[in-house]
Amino acid sequence: MSSVAVQSEEQACEAFVAWLDRRVVAAGRGDGLDRLEVAPSGTFWLGRIACEDEVRKGAADERSERLDPCAIGVRLRPVDAPSWSITVTVRARAWVQDPKDGPDPERRWWRSGLVEEVVSVMTGAEGGSFGRKQLEDAFAAVGAPGLSAEVRVDVEDWHKETELVVQLVNTSPEKAPGLTDSHLYETQIQVSGLPTRPFQLETLPDSFRYDRNVPAYGVNVGIEALTPGVFRTSDTVGVQTYRPTYWHGTNAPPDLSFATLADDPLPQLAALVDALAVYDDAHWSPSVLGARQAAEGWTDKMRGEADRSAGEVFAELERLRVGLELLRTRPEILRAFKLMNKAIARSAEGRGYTVWRPFQVGFLLSAVRFLVEPDDEARYVDTVWFATGGGKTETYLGLLLTAAFFDRLTGKTMGVTAWSRFPLRLLSLQQTQRFADALAGAEMVRKEEGIGGTQFGLGFLVGRAGTPNRIVPKTEGDEITPDSPGMPDKYQVLLHCPFCRDENLQMRFDRQRWKLEHRCTSPTCPMKGQALPVYVVDQEVFRFLPTVVVGTLDKAASIGLQQAMRGLVGPPQKVCPVPWHGFTYAERSATPNGCLVPNCQGGNLLKPLPIDPKRFGPSLRLQDELHLLRDSLGAVDSHYESLLDHLQRELCGTRAKIVASSATLTGYDRQVDVLYQRQGRVFPQPGPRAGESFWTAPTTTPLRRFVAVAPRGVTLEHVSDRTLDTLQRCVRELVDDPATVCAEAGIDQTHADLLISLYGTDVVYGTTLYDVEAAGRSLGSNNTVAGINVEQLTGQTDFDEVRAILERLENPEDDFAERIHVIAASSMLSHGVDVDRLNTMVMLGLPLTTAEFIQTTARVGRRHPGLVYVLHKIGRERDAQTFRHFEQYVRQGDRFVDAIPITRRSRRVLELTIAGVVGARTLMIREPASRQRLSTPAKLRDYARNSGMTPAAESAAVATVLGLDGAEDTVHREQIADWVQVWFAELEDPTNKAKYVSELGPRSPMMSLRDVEASAPIHD
Ligand SMILES: [Zn+2]
Ligand SMILES: [Zn+2]
Repeated sequence: MSSVAVQSEEQACEAFVAWLDRRVVAAGRGDGLDRLEVAPSGTFWLGRIACEDEVRKGAADERSERLDPCAIGVRLRPVDAPSWSITVTVRARAWVQDPKDGPDPERRWWRSGLVEEVVSVMTGAEGGSFGRKQLEDAFAAVGAPGLSAEVRVDVEDWHKETELVVQLVNTSPEKAPGLTDSHLYETQIQVSGLPTRPFQLETLPDSFRYDRNVPAYGVNVGIEALTPGVFRTSDTVGVQTYRPTYWHGTNAPPDLSFATLADDPLPQLAALVDALAVYDDAHWSPSVLGARQAAEGWTDKMRGEADRSAGEVFAELERLRVGLELLRTRPEILRAFKLMNKAIARSAEGRGYTVWRPFQVGFLLSAVRFLVEPDDEARYVDTVWFATGGGKTETYLGLLLTAAFFDRLTGKTMGVTAWSRFPLRLLSLQQTQRFADALAGAEMVRKEEGIGGTQFGLGFLVGRAGTPNRIVPKTEGDEITPDSPGMPDKYQVLLHCPFCRDENLQMRFDRQRWKLEHRCTSPTCPMKGQALPVYVVDQEVFRFLPTVVVGTLDKAASIGLQQAMRGLVGPPQKVCPVPWHGFTYAERSATPNGCLVPNCQGGNLLKPLPIDPKRFGPSLRLQDELHLLRDSLGAVDSHYESLLDHLQRELCGTRAKIVASSATLTGYDRQVDVLYQRQGRVFPQPGPRAGESFWTAPTTTPLRRFVAVAPRGVTLEHVSDRTLDTLQRCVRELVDDPATVCAEAGIDQTHADLLISLYGTDVVYGTTLYDVEAAGRSLGSNNTVAGINVEQLTGQTDFDEVRAILERLENPEDDFAERIHVIAASSMLSHGVDVDRLNTMVMLGLPLTTAEFIQTTARVGRRHPGLVYVLHKIGRERDAQTFRHFEQYVRQGDRFVDAIPITRRSRRVLELTIAGVVGARTLMIREPASRQRLSTPAKLRDYARNSGMTPAAESAAVATVLGLDGAEDTVHREQIADWVQVWFAELEDPTNKAKYVSELGPRSPMMSLRDVEASAPIHD
């Protein structure tokens, strides 16, 4: 035999994943074991079925039946009318216990030989039981007399069409003579000989995209359709997904390399738009849709959905054409686009990617019009919707750098171009690093091209758990000073130097400049040891107004409390004459000249703003993970988004463009309308069939193998422990004895080290903190493999600990024993933790939302084939439903995504947000206009009297800001009026004890948008 071609890394991974899965399933079923010291019913979780009498005698409801079922089966739709003839092959084993003085007293349980019987079934419309005697004899023959089973056929006529349920039922007596275990093990049935027709998944909107056929359903098992009409049960439901390719045009893709687009983009962009036009015509024209309707049996409703989708697709094509035309005709846009490409090329150097994916360029073309028609385009929220891992962040960054260069080329030489928000409290360090890398690329290009203005920089603005709000000279309360414990190293945000990628960064607090600095120590760094243009203290963000601010959503609340937040919606006041002090804001007792540096000696001769103040308003607000803005968080944010819009309009007369990314499109239009009072627009439009569009098509390269597990008879924790234990045991065998493992798994031994690295760290994912902590703890005590190192990544994990764990994952220890073996994680992991070494996951129950399922599982198998065990909490109705539809759930997940519950008309939320609106209007609008300090009630009282402020006018203004000025909002307006009435009464009352304006009124402005129970349901 000639030698096989050299095995690729990819093939090795694929073979290894298949081997791992075989081993886990074997551990669950007990395959290959001869003897056991403990009872098999407390050990195995797959393949077993309990005896019917015992299950009946127990709680006997559907739930307990699912937890320890007494049958497995298949549900079918016969083509013909009764009677039916079916062949059912039954496979099973038993476990029998020897007496105490048996041959192996330490391991008294032994496994019987395989029972394999072909049962012939001939049944009419009444159904019946078959093969009982045959099976009883077979069990007796393998040494388990007394065990009993039968094939039971139920005919169900109450559905539209007749359905047959063919099951193997364990009919053993609870106490069989001589046996202590009445379970059957390693059970399987195979049904053949019956012509069937598929089930149809119920119709949902745009179902024209999906294959709705389901050949058969399992009962407590998965079903494999081996050949037409032959169905076999499987203990788990395995679904393999494949890596997409990012081009589906008829011709070769245009050259979309950064280098070409930096040099001469127009011909390539034109080719891209032309190719899209050809594709759209070929897939969406009325005649094509008509042909599909006939061939696939679409209803009129489905055709209506297809026609609507076609309309959106052609509108998208038109937007790309408009974008291309703007690049042709507007030199400053073309230049900004080219410089952006040059910058991205720079930041991607040495990282193995040099080209855009076509959809990324498509998005840029579709969105670029906002630069020249900001008002018109601000009416829309553009959302990038693409499979996780597709490159959404880079798409954002392309748009953001284009806008930043465009700003510089058109006179905005400083200030914030974009404010990018993440919904989670703890912003991902890896995401932040990508922003920093892109901006560093842009900064180098800016210098080379001699483009004026301040350095391109990055600000980091996160909630309480992250970096300091400010640094003070002397300790007061919990404020940070230059000498606080952990300063300055504790606040390192970057993982490496964005200019030269050296990992030896140094944190330093510069007392002269009063700045907390990241410095690169590499002698070859282009920054030559100077502080990197990265600002991680809130007040430094306000002082320097870096080009891009990334942060968490909750931080927007500061707009109602901190007047220096003004720099994120409009102009600061002035510039301090002392070098490195930066922009100034309103005067306060602690900042007498408005400079935020403590004890500034700059005096009152402040410098005016060097550019038109109106240009300080940001051009873009970015929202990552839009689908997470739901329930109370969504309601609160909707009010603050309106407030940000209002302030920017008042201060600059402009409106920021909003760009978002989302994992789901269900209910998207309404969500965007509620959140931003704008219209939603999605890019790219979904294609004509699920999983394929112009921008993407499936390949045969494996992406992830999903395995649904419905644990039987033991706890979920037990299954999780055993699964992780098996995965770790497998990798350790590979470490200790590569030759044997590689031979068994069919792997070329040269790949062993790679596989140890890629599959040596498992993720166990819990949807609650409780689950995660329990999983971490029990692994320590309940495993057969010694020395499993477990680390946790949850919202509770400290910032610097997260960084340390990421570093260990990225650069694992040489010795396998010292590495992290298991990461116990919560949803924190699903947002921007991108580690190519994470390729196996055990999920403890289905997450609450399908979006979370999609995002979380996307954390494994990013570059190499992944393996995901989804342990269903099978007692729960939802998990049971999903287990039944698991293949469709994985393949059509986006269609299972639930609509997002959100409203801006919650009165409970309004009660929380009014104070912020009134506070922000005072800080950001009245105070600067008054040219005096309005920080105390006495001063504001005078101002109110002189300027003619009234409760009625302020209430009306607040209602308008919040979009609660419609006919149906009367109660909301009354609520606002009552609130403002109290606020005014306290303001007018000279005996009131409030020291600051923020203390007036029924309650103070929110400190964080999270100051509302995130899980509480919210109603109109
Ligand atoms: Zn450097
Ligand atoms: Zn100063």
